[in-house]
Amino acid sequence: MRNYCNNTSVNSVERACKPMPRVIVIGLASCFGCQLQITNRERYLTDVLGQIDLRYWRMTSSEPLPESYDVAVIEGAVTTQESVDLVKDVRAHAKAVITIGACANTAGIPGIAADNFDERVSQVYQDLPAAAGHVISPRSVPDVIDVDFQVLCCPIEFDRFVEVLGEALYESNRVKPTRTLCGDCKRNERTCLYNQGKICLGMVTSAGCGARCPSLGRECNGCAGISPDANLDSARSIVERYGLSVDEFDRKLEMFNQTNDVLHPQDENQEA
Ligand code: SF4
Ligand code: SF4
Ligand code: SF4
Repeated sequence: MRNYCNNTSVNSVERACKPMPRVIVIGLASCFGCQLQITNRERYLTDVLGQIDLRYWRMTSSEPLPESYDVAVIEGAVTTQESVDLVKDVRAHAKAVITIGACANTAGIPGIAADNFDERVSQVYQDLPAAAGHVISPRSVPDVIDVDFQVLCCPIEFDRFVEVLGEALYESNRVKPTRTLCGDCKRNERTCLYNQGKICLGMVTSAGCGARCPSLGRECNGCAGISPDANLDSARSIVERYGLSVDEFDRKLEMFNQTNDVLHPQDENQEA
């Protein structure tokens, strides 16, 4: 285990050497774009790496997972029974689990296949290759295990990742925000895109990105997932009031929320 040594102590004999938190980074079904976002900021990455004992990083190593670690970072959706077993094992070993990106947090793009999953598989494959593992209907990591911290969006923002990693390393008990995006959008002093006849999902999407897309004049497509505070019926009535299509609103919501029970209350396509 690597140690963090405080050499500024008055008495060097008494200097404090603390073990660095051991961190692993795992990639499940994803495009690895969120892991890439972390490497893209190499100037700051070295500062982060100087404060942790990075035991495993799926994107950079083919070594087996270590047996012990403190913090597990998971990217990607769960799409195989092997991944179910892996995340359960990780949960049993890690003191803190962080899920990064839409794929891990909402099942994201892989989750789109959850709609009529069996049919979709047979449309593409006559026989599934053994290398695919025991494929199951896609689901998010929080659908399989309890998660301590989340970094939302597709892809994640590096700064938000560092903030959340800090919270995990220093055992923050800060309450997670549950509000929707519109408040942040208003603070950006942007005119609502509904006034331009555009369907924006900000009314029901979790805040945290600073209303990135509306601030650039683009509709939010919901990549942070449906907020626990969202009122879908109220949002649909607003869409209707603006003379826009509620069906289109619902269709857009499915891109990042296909496996969300709030959207499909009667949907039983998720296995236990
Ligand atoms: S959330 Fe987006 S960028 Fe991140 S792994 Fe999934 S598809 Fe790629
Ligand atoms: S543009 Fe979107 S995020 Fe901004 S206020 Fe309108 S609905 Fe909300
Ligand atoms: S505005 Fe919406 S789509 Fe854009 S990054 Fe934020 S949550 Fe994702």
